[in-house]
Amino acid sequence: MGISRILIANRGEIALRIHRAAHEMGIETVAVHSTADADAMHVRLADHAVCIGPPAAKDSYLNVAAIISAAEIAHADAIHPGYGFLSENAQFAEIVEAHGITWIGPKPEHIRTMGDKIEAKRTAGALGLPLVPGSDGAVSEIAEAKAIAEKAGYPVIIKAASGGGGRGMKVCNGPDELETLIQQAGSEAKAAFGDATVYIEKYLGNPRHIEFQVFGDGNGEAIHLGERDCSLQRRHQKVLEEAPSPVISPEERDRMGGIVAKAMADMGYRGAGTIEFLWENGEFYFIEMNTRLQVEHPVTEAITGVDLVREQIRIADGKPLSVKQADIEFNGHAIECRINAEDPWNFTPSPGLVSNYHAAGGMNVRVDSGLYAGYKIPPYYDSMIAKLIVKGRTREGCIMRLKRALEEMVIGGVKTSIPLHQALMNEPDFIHGDYTIKWLEEWLAGRA
Ligand code: ADP
Repeated sequence: MGISRILIANRGEIALRIHRAAHEMGIETVAVHSTADADAMHVRLADHAVCIGPPAAKDSYLNVAAIISAAEIAHADAIHPGYGFLSENAQFAEIVEAHGITWIGPKPEHIRTMGDKIEAKRTAGALGLPLVPGSDGAVSEIAEAKAIAEKAGYPVIIKAASGGGGRGMKVCNGPDELETLIQQAGSEAKAAFGDATVYIEKYLGNPRHIEFQVFGDGNGEAIHLGERDCSLQRRHQKVLEEAPSPVISPEERDRMGGIVAKAMADMGYRGAGTIEFLWENGEFYFIEMNTRLQVEHPVTEAITGVDLVREQIRIADGKPLSVKQADIEFNGHAIECRINAEDPWNFTPSPGLVSNYHAAGGMNVRVDSGLYAGYKIPPYYDSMIAKLIVKGRTREGCIMRLKRALEEMVIGGVKTSIPLHQALMNEPDFIHGDYTIKWLEEWLAGRA
């Protein structure tokens, strides 16, 4: 018994990340890949590889039948979905389990509940988490919408129940625009997510994005691993993340962490999860829960020493949590830079041949990336090609080390966001930890 061969239903750096955890546990890996990813690093390193289709994600990384067939052919006994693609698809989780394959992820019913943001808010409220004021559920009647918006106070934000990736949101400044924006949001949500349901929230003026990492064993035990501050965003997409947050005191961390861990215990949550809040004037407001590993999970690993992927695999294998809340200590400070293949200032994608590659190294420097010299970055997928994660004993030391590590990184032949991160490291507001979700876009606008 026990997991002996994991199929990795993903690509890029996260596929490599999962492969590494598996091999460190003595577990074999199966890479599945599109024709565009035949030369990817994780495909080379995996014990087995199966091509599952053409480049377009809908024909390969989202192709459930092809992935299940690959698992059967390669005799995989577990599937790890990574992030994105099928990771928050409850039906896929059910199909995996129905085939007698271990799903390395939360219970399908919890994925489903949290995937619907209205259900997620309702559940979070019932579990005692503080919510952003707004509608109790879906809004369709305009008179009702006006009353809700009036009560919450303008501006409000109209959000798609099935939204994700920072898409499907509209800010509304007054009652005159409300009807038009609700209709627009609904039809855009229908086109993007196949679901026109929208709801209304108060639009917080200048919050920080603070999220808690949680972990449950599925049997009523749950822990939290502190928070990450992901306020540096462009178009609601995270650019750089840090742990701990510069604004959360140890007492606040213990208090809020205790609340989220209890919520997860009460719910019987299994595996890794992230509870996202907006934080303004010292108050937390729940916005959503992600039922998967996050891109930014390494900053939590850096300050806690807990390998989150290993923990996911253990839990899926029916083992208990490897750590208790009382064992978790937060040491030092960690920052992650998302390095994208794109123009650092106008953000146009820059795929193509990587002519040279040198990863930064040294004490407390981690690079998660599938890059190598001669690799061709395909144009079909997300532009993130590497994550640079640096730890220091203090935030100040962490920033000094990060500057040094950014100087060392060489990614030749394509444009990358490294110059953007370097510029950020010299900004007094960043250095002082004095920024909100609005800061980066305002700073970028000021430079233009
Ligand atoms: P997604 O699932 O698309 O990532 P979220 O609900 O997590 O959507 O929101 C993403 C980002 O949008 C947040 O980090 C924040 O920047 C912004 N946002 C969401 N809700 C609000 C709100 N009520 N007020 C202000 N900003 C918001």
